Amino acid sequence: MAVEGTARLRCSRCLEDFETGIRTGFTVEFRERVEGPEDEDVQLYSGDYVDLGEQVRQNLILSLPMKPLCKPDCEGLCPQCGKNLNYGRCSCDGGPVDARLAALGEWLKARQGRGSES
Ligand SMILES: [Zn+2]
Ligand SMILES: [Zn+2]
Repeated sequence: MAVEGTARLRCSRCLEDFETGIRTGFTVEFRERVEGPEDEDVQLYSGDYVDLGEQVRQNLILSLPMKPLCKPDCEGLCPQCGKNLNYGRCSCDGGPVDARLAALGEWLKARQGRGSES
């Protein structure tokens, strides 16, 4: 059984919404419910019809990427100003990567400046 559709996802890097085509296929084995040990891999049904809705839903969810990307080389967001770098560079380039790291750098420098006293 094949399922095709379009999913609206949010890029895990730049947080932009984008649409992606999804295609998944799966096989389901149906067997009438009988007394006895249940097989996890077999969908049991009782009555005259089977409900595929849940099967389709589960498989679609499984086929979606855990960390969706709008494109494989998505630039993501600038960690400093939050600009979407897919639309161009921001003016933060070359600056300190992280305020906390910058503070650590200052601390290390101060430590080294004091010489080798212990
Ligand atoms: Zn993106
Ligand atoms: Zn920036």
